[in-house]
Amino acid sequence: MRIVPLISSGYDSNAYVLLGERVAVIDTGLSAESMRSRIAGVVEAERVELVLNTHAHIDHCGGNRTFGNAEVLLHELDAEAASSGSYYGTASLFGTGGECKPGRLLKDGARVDLGGEVLEVIHTPGHTPGSICLYLRERGALFSGDTLFAGGSFGRTDLPGGDMRQLVESLRRIAELDIEVLYPGHMEVVEGEEARECAEVACEAAERFL
Ligand SMILES: [Zn+2]
Repeated sequence: MRIVPLISSGYDSNAYVLLGERVAVIDTGLSAESMRSRIAGVVEAERVELVLNTHAHIDHCGGNRTFGNAEVLLHELDAEAASSGSYYGTASLFGTGGECKPGRLLKDGARVDLGGEVLEVIHTPGHTPGSICLYLRERGALFSGDTLFAGGSFGRTDLPGGDMRQLVESLRRIAELDIEVLYPGHMEVVEGEEARECAEVACEAAERFL
């Protein structure tokens, strides 16, 4: 399976295209217009079978409708924020919207089979109640959404549904994982030593806010 990062600029989120036996996209950015242009040349939008949203903020779900044939997967605790179009207040914050009809609702420990490789769902609340990280265990690859970023920074908790105590617990949990490559929701991808250390660094930094 090939992973193609579509690194964002500005407030848009990163998106990751997973080209395996099944084609999946993790997060879709702020708008369908921007998603269409970013994915052009990587894969035809019609071939995308699965869209996984790491959480229901509009800058991660706004491009879902680019993939009309795909099933949308997100954590059950974020389903209402997506289907209502509120996205925890981020739709009005960004001045944009777009409905999202979640298909399969995920829980901690769920597995998403991409044909050959399996994404493990790790529930990591704090940034939103239903934030998830997606883990490819054999590669040590973690798609961390807005829970963890390069350099050990972490997601904000001051938006509706945010909770710093939960975020610290979530960071502690992912610090136990073997992370060889970190694919965060914003900013650059990191590998090797930096990837291995960033969850621990984030834990220590976040704990100071408790
Ligand atoms: Zn977010």
